[in-house]
Amino acid sequence: MQNGIYFDSAATTQISKKALEEYNRISLEVFANPSSSHIFGKNAKSELEKARINICETLSVEDKTLYFTSGATESISIVLSSLLFMTKGNIITSSAEHDAVMSFMPSYLSKGWTWTELKTKNGFVTKEDLEEKITNETRIVAIQAVNNIIGSINPIEDLVKVVRAKEAEFGKKIFFFCDAVQAIGKVPFSFLKSDVDGASISAHKIHGPKGVGLLYLKRDNLMVISRGGGQEKGIRGGTENLPAISAFSIAMKEKIDDEFNIKELNDTLRNALRQNDYIKVLTPEENSSPYILTFSSPIPSEVMMRMLQDKGFYVSSGSACSNNLKKKSESVFQKMGFSPKEAQGAIRVSFSHNNTINEVEAISQAIISLVKEFTHG
Ligand code: PLP
Repeated sequence: MQNGIYFDSAATTQISKKALEEYNRISLEVFANPSSSHIFGKNAKSELEKARINICETLSVEDKTLYFTSGATESISIVLSSLLFMTKGNIITSSAEHDAVMSFMPSYLSKGWTWTELKTKNGFVTKEDLEEKITNETRIVAIQAVNNIIGSINPIEDLVKVVRAKEAEFGKKIFFFCDAVQAIGKVPFSFLKSDVDGASISAHKIHGPKGVGLLYLKRDNLMVISRGGGQEKGIRGGTENLPAISAFSIAMKEKIDDEFNIKELNDTLRNALRQNDYIKVLTPEENSSPYILTFSSPIPSEVMMRMLQDKGFYVSSGSACSNNLKKKSESVFQKMGFSPKEAQGAIRVSFSHNNTINEVEAISQAIISLVKEFTHG
């Protein structure tokens, strides 16, 4: 076991004990291929459907709307690849989407689509901006539920209402896709109530195993691009990762039922950092995820990360996926309205129920003393 205190749960979380037990049980006892017609295979198939039904109950959706994938990146890829071939027109995204969405834009442009980015001041998309930019050419709107870099929560229900009204006005269907990775199990969010057409989830963000996730599709009207054995109604071919899927269903239930007061951790850090004039908290105070607190200091983020690591604290500079693409990550901060200096000094602290108030107090003190040394040194 590594020593130190982990504050990077927006990147990934530790698998829960119960989820790991389930992973081991299924791996050892129900290892057959769910597509095999013998009794072992039938048992595996029944475990697969049990996991799907459990997750459907937890998320209050119908079982025919959920497809198991290898994670959010694949869920997003299935939807965006399929729509790219099915239709043509304009795609609207927020300017702060994850790379899993953004990396598709060159393909859309090269296939003759137009791409419109919505403003994300302080991480938020507004319905007014969407209303203004949506046109009768728009076929896809892709907006994340919670921003992975600063934790802002988008008003998805209101944004979908704008899209539905425009569909009625133009007489054309618009697919509303919502990347819900940082929302499910963390902030109130309902697929049904929000009326999104599609959404993505990753198990490892909520103490499930890595390499498994979900695609939610309100209707099964996507063109099937992937080829293979027809699993998941052809939407995602390939032998199902049953141990991970069953463990995911356990982790999901645990997370939704979790009553741990994460906000107390977030508030403790926010209140402590506020005491120092050189530190600016970038995560909005209202309408933000209690699992993320991003701040900026005059210390460049890579340096701050290393100094915190030397003291035994593991944080991130914005987002794990963007660490290799530092410039890109800084430009997302700027699109959210932060200055280049604020972007260069940004640090994301993200929590889980494995953290304690004592740990948060310790990292607060460490950050403040490093900033004091830097600014008075
Ligand atoms: N979308 C968001 C908002 C994320 O935070 C992440 C992971 O960091 C992803 C998508 C991609 O998830 P995964 O790497 O599990 O496929």
